[in-house]
Amino acid sequence: SHGAQLIDGKALAQKIQAELAQQIQSLQAQYGRPPGLAVLMVGDNPASAAYVRGKEKACTNVGMASFGQHLPATTTQAELEQIIQALNHDERVDGILIQLPLPEHLDGVALLNQLDPDKDADGLHPVNLGRLVRSEPGLRSCTPAGVMELLKEYQIDPKGKHAVVIGRSILVGKPIALMLLEADATVAIAHSKTPDLASVIRNADIVVAAVGRPEMITANMVKPGAVVIDVGINRVTNAEGKSRLVGDVHFDSVKTVASAITPVPGGVGPMTVAMLLQNTVWSYIQRHQGVQQAP
Ligand code: NAP
Repeated sequence: SHGAQLIDGKALAQKIQAELAQQIQSLQAQYGRPPGLAVLMVGDNPASAAYVRGKEKACTNVGMASFGQHLPATTTQAELEQIIQALNHDERVDGILIQLPLPEHLDGVALLNQLDPDKDADGLHPVNLGRLVRSEPGLRSCTPAGVMELLKEYQIDPKGKHAVVIGRSILVGKPIALMLLEADATVAIAHSKTPDLASVIRNADIVVAAVGRPEMITANMVKPGAVVIDVGINRVTNAEGKSRLVGDVHFDSVKTVASAITPVPGGVGPMTVAMLLQNTVWSYIQRHQGVQQAP
């Protein structure tokens, strides 16, 4: 084998953002305002703060208006509900994202349920998850949508393929599995109670790892020629105390058997941000022009 093709999420995310910047200019000219995104962050989890900074920077880079709010960890559920209601009714805001995880005392699901589904930029409101199950147009979760966009860009058609998704979270695993099913793959979802994970993964033409376990997918588990998409982002520290990011896939070994693979960082991560912006533009267009095809 000559090693796997590298699936470059950073490059595709940049390309999508450049296209969005153009589109936003003409939308602004046509409708007199830019699309607006509000990222809500509560507390000061350092990883979340870095993600939020990245999202807000990307937002202004493409010419979108940013209405982000960084709230203290002591913010109450009632205060957040009020903020969400205000954003739901704010005509300048097309997308709202609640950065997860929230501090312990807050009920994230109850807050998601308060979002106007048509401003739900992360596609996690039950209405949008329901639209996904029904294959209806709607806002799709950003990370899963980013995975599908990468497959499309690299002309990897899931149709007729065996796909295995490892992880079944509402945020990542389940929606990815549904999107692969929608694209006519035969899908299996593995999780912590799956016996003999290796034999399940070894059936797959497309492997999507969304587990949160550093480098747990190794070369011996992967069918030669499989496409491997690594959603995991894990910070690990070596013996010298140096920290770095790794995925759920052991990249150096798996790249020798896979036909294509995403790196961490630079794979799925940047696509999540690009899809957030794309979703916000889609909401904007939908509010001005009526229901479109899924973004
Ligand atoms: P999560 O909510 O913790 O879900 C992890 C899933 O993995 C669960 O379904 C769990 O099974 C399963 N699992 C755990 N250990 C397992 C094992 N040993 N074997 C098989 N399955 C196992 O995590 P998440 O929010 O889905 O995130 C997954 C990873 O993606 C994390 O590394 C996260 O940082 C990353 N992530 C990346 C992005 C991005 O932009 N690239 C976005 C979001 C998340 P059970 O259901 O049985 O517990």
